Parts: sequence; structure tokens; C-alpha cells
Amino acid sequence: MVKYKEKLEEQKVFIDGEWTTSSKGDTYSIINPSTGKTFVECQKCDVEDTKRAIDVARDAFDNGPWPEMSLEERTKIFYKVADMMAKKSWQLSKLDAMCNGIPALSHLIMVLSSVPLYKYICTQAKKVLEPKKVSTLYPVDSTVLRDPDGVTALIAPWNGPIWIESAKLAPALIVGNTAVLKPASQTPLTALEIAKIFEKAGLPKGVLNVITGPGSVVGAEMAKSEKVDHVSLTGETITGKEIVKNAIGNLKKVSLELGGKSANIIFDDFPIEDAVNMAAVGGYFLNGELCIENTRILMQERIHKKVAKKFAELSKSLRLGNALSLNTNIGPLVTEGQMERNLKYIESGKEEGATLLCGGYRPQEGELKDGFFVAPTVFDNVSNDMKIAREEIFGPVLSVIPFSTEEEAIEIANDTTYGLGGAVMTKDRKRGMRVAKKMRTGSVFVNTVHILQGETPFGGYKQSGWGREMSELSVEEFTQPKSITADWGGFTKYFVELVQLH
Ligand code: NDP
Repeated sequence: MVKYKEKLEEQKVFIDGEWTTSSKGDTYSIINPSTGKTFVECQKCDVEDTKRAIDVARDAFDNGPWPEMSLEERTKIFYKVADMMAKKSWQLSKLDAMCNGIPALSHLIMVLSSVPLYKYICTQAKKVLEPKKVSTLYPVDSTVLRDPDGVTALIAPWNGPIWIESAKLAPALIVGNTAVLKPASQTPLTALEIAKIFEKAGLPKGVLNVITGPGSVVGAEMAKSEKVDHVSLTGETITGKEIVKNAIGNLKKVSLELGGKSANIIFDDFPIEDAVNMAAVGGYFLNGELCIENTRILMQERIHKKVAKKFAELSKSLRLGNALSLNTNIGPLVTEGQMERNLKYIESGKEEGATLLCGGYRPQEGELKDGFFVAPTVFDNVSNDMKIAREEIFGPVLSVIPFSTEEEAIEIANDTTYGLGGAVMTKDRKRGMRVAKKMRTGSVFVNTVHILQGETPFGGYKQSGWGREMSELSVEEFTQPKSITADWGGFTKYFVELVQLH
């Protein structure tokens, strides 16, 4: 049995440096997917609350000290944030695990990857914010600066809360923007903890506001508001399209990190055991609820049967359990709805004629019966036009697709509306790089999976999104380039004369 606090105290939201309730006093409950039991009440903000948070962020940007503070001063606050987050890393990991069912140890990896991001981004900001002199055609001085966008609306999903919220907050705030952060309704606890950390670190009032409530109300208002300059979403492609429609009013900047259906291409020169392990980590990390999950596993004909069989054996041996248990490989899916959605995709795979190698059901034994579990499921002989190969399932339901040649593998990998991640497994260096370059996707991993680092840009082609997170591109994403051209030598008088001649 896992020991955990059965109930947490009611959560508040953070607006204008105050911990407060929703204006109407409405709340909603969160169910722990490992137990099926409600364990915490959160504020259900509405349009009025959202407008208030945006007004505060607007005022903090237009009149506050934050945009005017030096990068050195902002950096000091960020270093404190990183250190405090590191100290709380296990507590934060457990909170997210209780909300979304992803094993706490996997959250720990994400929290510990977020910590250096707050320091690293300061160095990136220094590079990006440095004024750059440009050579000009005329004898005038031209300098290119970077200004913050203004008020940013940051909307996060439930699968990697701290990591994704940090990937937005760090570049947005370090350059002097202010922010309203809306975590997913299912995973608000760590966003509220981040606010407490920033508050303790000395962030001025109103610079960061964290509100909770339904995306269709709170998130939609954030996208619509003409007082917001930049909306950044990580979520489903359909939500991204909704945001684009809502953002049209003031043509605000839109950044989107959306879904994926990534391919892992395993060539027959790759060792079988390694292929099986890469398929497992690449497909099941975070319960299969990761945007860059390799959900289509392409296996070359000669090794296909052997790797698929061993992969199914490994899948059957994975330990399902409470997300807080250190023994758990795969926790429950985030909600009952997400579990039902996975079970429907399993039915669709069977109906379309894929071969079910393992899983395909909801386990009911012991403690598992209370949670929203789906057994790790592998379909073999999947063809790329089947629904399970085309749509993002978001769970431990994986497709094996056999292939014969390199060209065929590339064609299958690129035959998707998404373009977020992908992997290539081969001992042939030239082929590894050749195939990686031909994959129409934002990140490709060769002989590895899911190694995301602050230094490498992250984002998608096609319907996987707009813009990039991480790296100095993320800092650029939250700024506007501004050119200032000055004539200190009197050149413009010739220009005036020239114009008068006409
Ligand atoms: P959703 O798109 O359902 O939700 C994401 C966020 O958007 C939530 O905060 C949600 O609020 C909010 N939201 C919902 N509807 C609207 C709306 N109309 N306007 C504004 N905001 C809205 O995604 P999930 O939370 O289910 O997350 C899983 C998805 O995220 C997957 O598709 C996954 O691939 C993608 N993802 C992409 C990543 C990337 O970097 N490319 C990384 C991680 C995940 P609420 O929770 O209240 O509904």
C-alpha cells in the first residue's frame, strides 16, 4: 500500500501578489487517477476572474518595475527560484503524480530538468538582449534591440506540468514580460507552488498570476483578450486551432506546442535487446502520455518478428501501480475519460485488423481496480492508414509497422499530419544522419529517445505547432526585434535635398 495524504487543503489562486478565491467562490474537485478518489478542491475561475488577472498583468507591464529592471536583477531572482525548486523537487514530483497518474520518479526527472532551465535561460537572455550594431548602406548608426512582447498568456497541459510551465515561464519572464499562467484543470497544484516560489524569491507583485479553471472559459478568454500580447499553448492540435481563431481580434502573437505521432525506425543492424529497450522507453515514458512518444514503431522485415515478440514480452512484464510507488513503471491514465478513449482505440485497432500482441484491456486486480489503468498494449502488423497509426492516443497503446527499405521507412514516418519527434536506430552513422535529415519533424533522436535539453530547440512541423521552446530561440520567441537608426553625422540633409529635387 502506498502512503499518501488522503486530502489536501483547498487551493487558492494567485492574482496581484495575493492568494485569493474565485470571485463567485466556485470550486472544482480533482480525482487522483491512482485511487479514483477526490483529494483536493481548486478554484473554478470564470471570465471575470480571468479579466482581472489580465488587467493586473497589463498594469504590471505598463507601470511596474519588472520590464525596466536590469537583466542582472532579474537573474538574481531566477537563481533563487532554481535553488528553491531543487529543494522541493520530490514534493513537487509527488503532487503532479497524484494529479495525473504519471509515476513520481518520472516527474522527478522533469523537475530536475526544469531547475537548470531557470539558470541557463539567463545566459541565453544575455545573448539575445545584447544590442547588436548592424552595418548599413548609409552612413548612419543602426542598432537592433529586443523588447519584451508585453502581457503573455501561458496555457499548459497536464502531462508534464512543471517542465512545460517552466519552458514557458522562464523565457517569458526573464526578458521582462508579465504573465498569466493557466495550468491544466487536472494538474494545477505545482503551478501554484511555482507561484509561491517566485513570490518568495522576490518577484514584484502582479508579474506572475496563476489562475485555475476550465480551458473553454479561462483559456478562451486569455486567447481572446485584447490586453494580451502573446498567447502560448501546449496542448492538443484542436485546442491550438481554437486559440488561433480566438486570438485574431488583436492579432496577438501565438506560440503552439501541439500533438504528435512520432515514428521510431529500427533498422536490422541494430542489436535486438537495445531495440526492445528503446521501443519501450520511447513508447511508454510518462505512461505513453508524452507528446514526442514514439507511438509508431517501424521494424525492418528481417528482425521484425523477433523484436516485436520480445517487445510484447517486456510490455507484459511492466509493473502497473499507484503513481506514488517507486516500483511503478506505468501508472493510471490521467482521467476516466482518457482511459475510455484508450480502450476505444484498442477496439478500433482490433476492428481494422491489427494483430494484438499483448494488453488490450483494463486491469482490475487488487488496487488497480480503483484507478484508471490500461494494460500496456502492442499491436503488430499495423498499416499506416489505420486510425491507431494516424491519431494521437495518449496512453500505453503502441503500433508496430513492418518495413523493408530505408525509403519506405522514411515515407511511412513522414506520412502523418504531425511533425514533432522521431527516432532512428542503426549502427550505420551515415544512414542514421541521412534518415534523421529526411524526417519532417522538429526533433529526431538517433540511437536514443526523448533526450530533451535546454540548449536544443523544441517544437513541431506541420500540425504539431508554431514556434520553438528551449534554447535561445525560446527567448527570441518572447521578444520583438526593434531597430533604431540614428544619424549623428548629418547625412540626412543630402537625403532631404535628393527628395526635394524630385
Ligand atoms: P488540451 O489541449 O486539452 O489542454 C491544454 C490546455 O489548454 C489546458 O490548460 C486546457 O484547459 C486548455 N484549454 C482547453 N480548451 C481551451 C480553449 N478552448 N482555449 C484555451 N485553452 C483551452 O491538452 P491536454 O491537457 O489534454 O494535453 C495533452 C495534449 O498536449 C496532447 O495532444 C499532447 O501531444 C500535447 N502536448 C504537446 C507538447 C509539445 O510540446 N508539443 C508537450 C506536451 C503535451 P483544461 O485543462 O481546463 O481543459
